[in-house]
Amino acid sequence: MGMNERPALVIIGGGMAGQRLLEALVAKGFQARTGLRIVLIGAEPAVGYNRILLSPLLAGEVERDALWGRPAEWYRAEGIELHRGDPVVAIDRSRRRLTTASGAGVNYHRLVIATGSRTRRVRVLGDAREGVSEFRTLGDVDALLEDDLVDLPVCVVGAGLLGLEAAEGLRQRGARVTVVHRGAWPMNRQLDAEGGRQLAARLASRGLAFELERTLAEMRADRGGRLQALKLDDGRWLEAQRLIHAAGIEANFELGRDAGLECGQGICVDDRLVSSDPLIHALGECCEHRGATFGLVEPIWAQVEVLAAVLCGEPGCFEPLPSATRLKISGIALYAFGDPCPCAGDRWLRYFDPGSGDYRALCLNGGVIRAGNLINDTRLGPAWYHHFLARTPVEPGDDWLFDAASIARPSQHQDPIEEIA
Ligand SMILES: Cc1cc2nc3c(=O)[nH]c(=O)nc-3n(C[C@H](O)[C@H](O)[C@H](O)COP(=O)(O)OP(=O)(O)OC[C@H]3O[C@@H](n4cnc5c(N)ncnc54)[C@H](O)[C@@H]3O)c2cc1C
Repeated sequence: MGMNERPALVIIGGGMAGQRLLEALVAKGFQARTGLRIVLIGAEPAVGYNRILLSPLLAGEVERDALWGRPAEWYRAEGIELHRGDPVVAIDRSRRRLTTASGAGVNYHRLVIATGSRTRRVRVLGDAREGVSEFRTLGDVDALLEDDLVDLPVCVVGAGLLGLEAAEGLRQRGARVTVVHRGAWPMNRQLDAEGGRQLAARLASRGLAFELERTLAEMRADRGGRLQALKLDDGRWLEAQRLIHAAGIEANFELGRDAGLECGQGICVDDRLVSSDPLIHALGECCEHRGATFGLVEPIWAQVEVLAAVLCGEPGCFEPLPSATRLKISGIALYAFGDPCPCAGDRWLRYFDPGSGDYRALCLNGGVIRAGNLINDTRLGPAWYHHFLARTPVEPGDDWLFDAASIARPSQHQDPIEEIA
């Protein structure tokens, strides 16, 4: 960088948080207001695409072009300097200078680390040079789609949101998919046992196979190093020419840690998204706020609003809210929020219609909603979620399962609540 260039705000990471921050800064006129340039450095060859749409892309439901909200000219027109495919490898805080893998040096005046997270691979004995992959980036999906997937035996490890979307996408492409999951039912962190069973049954009827309460023990490859089979922890072997890891994520925080920033599971930030260095912010899945890390975009959008304000010298305070989860599998609507693990004092209201496949479950505890699950007809979801966040006093009447109008009661409604031990 030339010595006479304007000082820069540098953003590391061109993922969903980095892109959303660019949009917010442009909308606020950041460059004119602060005199700082904006530089974005991304590790992936593609910048600013909608990662959420990788699931429908894999399933063949959207075109690749649908992933971008902005054309390449937008960055030029807004005066944003882009570096793609060249990860930052070191932050020198004393010189306020970054080094990238290609050896380039970039000075910063303010820095935002938005490096996201990566797949946490489950440990499996053995090795295969070919056939083991992840479901995180456009590169991952492109590589999966290069293969002839028809009739290919595939194993997806993990039946959370990502694992199920990967499995169903691959099945829709013709693969024979088995999902191996440690939990007793899919999405066990979002669904109660009954909801999980209903979801598993729906997916199984489409042709997905499940190995629940199982882990992978070993992999076997042919002489060329191509994956052939996977051994489960009960000793059975599954035919598998592809293994997709989708059983969890971990924050990419090492860049911050190695620069001496305070870190836990992510780069620690305060309510203004400031790290332990006042010139450095962390945003999105790489950050840790009040001991929590993030895995869905909703709270990250709230972080972006706060950080854009803070970078423009305005007040801002990030208050995290629990998120609702939606599954993106066509033909199976699912809406879930709260923690479905059993808790003393829970009272579950449930309804299941075998004809339509409608499943509704609402967990009340201490006079308020604690969790909710809807499969198939999810129309009540946003209303339930609203009352969950607002901690609206509720009565355990079955109308909660059916009638949205009856639950939109005024918040001053303070009837005594039945307590179930
Ligand atoms: C297939 C899929 C489906 C999803 N569906 C949903 C959904 O339906 N709803 C929902 O809320 N969330 C969903 N998510 C999660 C959502 O995508 C993430 O919460 C979001 O992308 C996080 O944004 P981020 O910018 O923090 O991380 P990312 O989007 O991962 O971006 C981080 C970027 O930083 C780059 N980077 C890392 N290290 C460096 C470095 N050293 N130098 C430069 N760049 C670096 C990475 O390459 C990456 O491009 C889904 C995720 C996946 C993978």
